[in-house]
Amino acid sequence: MTSVFSDAQKRLQHLGELSGISSSVINSLSRPKATLCVSLSVLMDDGSTQYFDAYRCQYSSHLGPCKGGIRFHPHVSQDEVQALGLWMTIKCAVVGLPYGGGKGGVSVNPKNLSRMELEKLSRAYMRAMADFIGPEKDIPAPDVYTNARIMGWMRDEYEVIKGKKQAAVITGKPVIMGGSLGREEATGRGAFLVTEFLRSKEGKAPQDICVAIQGFGNAGYNFAKLLFDAGYKIIAISDSKGGVYDEAGLDVDKLKVSKDRNRKLESDYCEGSVCESDKHKLITHEELLALEVDLLVPAALENAITMKNVNDIKAKWITEVANGPISAAADEILFNKGTVIIPDVLANSGGVIVSYFEWVQNKAGYPWSLDDVQVKLAEKLKASFDEMWQYQHQRENTSLRSAAYAQALKKIESVIKMRGTKAYFSNTEN
Ligand code: NAD
Repeated sequence: MTSVFSDAQKRLQHLGELSGISSSVINSLSRPKATLCVSLSVLMDDGSTQYFDAYRCQYSSHLGPCKGGIRFHPHVSQDEVQALGLWMTIKCAVVGLPYGGGKGGVSVNPKNLSRMELEKLSRAYMRAMADFIGPEKDIPAPDVYTNARIMGWMRDEYEVIKGKKQAAVITGKPVIMGGSLGREEATGRGAFLVTEFLRSKEGKAPQDICVAIQGFGNAGYNFAKLLFDAGYKIIAISDSKGGVYDEAGLDVDKLKVSKDRNRKLESDYCEGSVCESDKHKLITHEELLALEVDLLVPAALENAITMKNVNDIKAKWITEVANGPISAAADEILFNKGTVIIPDVLANSGGVIVSYFEWVQNKAGYPWSLDDVQVKLAEKLKASFDEMWQYQHQRENTSLRSAAYAQALKKIESVIKMRGTKAYFSNTEN
C-alpha cells in the first residue's frame, strides 16, 4: 500500500523548495514532533473484549498548540495521522491561526458499533490521551465518522480525569456543552466561500456551474447545501455506498432527508422509495469523478484522484474539501492540464477556523452569536484567499496550492528563525 505520509512529505519538499524555504526548515517539518500509538480495549455488548489501534500525532507546535481532528475509520494508521498532521500544520499557518498541526484516529468501523460501544470507545480514547493532549498543548476536534456527540463524551471524560472543567480541551462539541454556533457547518461554509471567491474572479454565474460531489457527510453535505441554495447545478453526489446522477440537477434537501431516513443515498432512488418515479440514475465512484463538470468536489477521503484515474478527470475546477484527495503526482498532471484547484489547506479550513473561534470563546467564557462567527470566518477566508491568489498571479507557472504552501511555510520559517538555533532541534521539546 502506498504511504500517504511519504506523498505528503514529497509535496512539502517540492513546494518548499519552489518557494525558497531553507532546507533545514523543510527537514524540520518533514517529521512529526511526536506520535502516540496505543491499543484501546472496549467491553462489547456481547461480553467480549475488543482491541482497537489508536493514534494521536502532534505534528508541529511552532505556531502554537497542535490542532487537528480525530477520525474513526478502518483505514486509520500511524502513516495516515502523520500525513493529516502535516496538512493541518500547513492549513493553520495558511489562514493565520495561532496553532500548529496534529491529528488522531482509531482504526475501527464505527458503523459496526452500538451506541454504548461507541461511547466506551470514545471515552477510552480520551483516557489514553488525557496526559498527552490539553487545551494549551493539543486540541482535538471531529473528523471522518466522529461528530459533536463524540466530542462531548471526550470533553466529559477529560474533565472527570482532571477533576475540573476544561471546555477548551476539544472543539466541535455540542453547543450546549461549550460548542460554537456555526461549527457544524463551518467546513462546508468555508469551502463554499472560497469557491464563491473563485467564481467571482472567473466571472461565471452559479447556474452555469455544473457540480459533482464525492462524499455526503458533514463537509460534503453542508457544502452541497450552500451550493444548491446559491443556484449551482449539482448533477451527481455519492457516499460510501454509491452515487446518484441527474443531468437536470439533484435536490440536495430531498437527498439529505432521504439519506437520514434510509442511511444510504441510493435508497432515495430505488424501487419502493419515495422517489421511485424520479429519473435519477445510479453512478459508480469512478464515473462520478470522470464526469464532464465545471466543478468537482472530492469530500470523502485521501487519494480519490491518483495516477490511476487522473487522465479521466475532466472538471475545470476542483475544490478539495477532503484532506489530500489528490496525490502529488496526479496534482502535477492536473496543473499542467490547466485545472484550477483550490487546495485542501485553504478549501476545508473553515472547520479549524471555527474550532479556533470555539476555543477562544471557551477560554474567554463568552459565547459569540452566529453572525459574529460567520462574519469573522468570511473575513479570515477572504484575506487568505486574496493573499494566495495574488501570490499565484504574480508568478509564472505557479499553482494555487504552491501559493498556499508558500504563505504557510514562510510564516513557520519566520518563527523558527526568530526562535534561533534551538527551534531547529526543539520540534521534539516544544
Ligand atoms: P463524515 O464522516 O461526516 O463524512 C464522510 C463522507 O464520505 C460520508 O458521506 C461517507 O459515506 C463518504 N465516503 C467515504 N468513503 C467514500 C467513497 N469512497 N466514495 C464516496 N464517498 C465516500 O466526514 P467529514 O467530516 O465530512 O470529512 C470528509 C473529509 O473532509 C475528510 O477528508 C476530512 O478530513 C475532511 N475535513 C473535515 C472537516 C470537518 O470539520 N468535519 C474539516 C476539514 C476537513
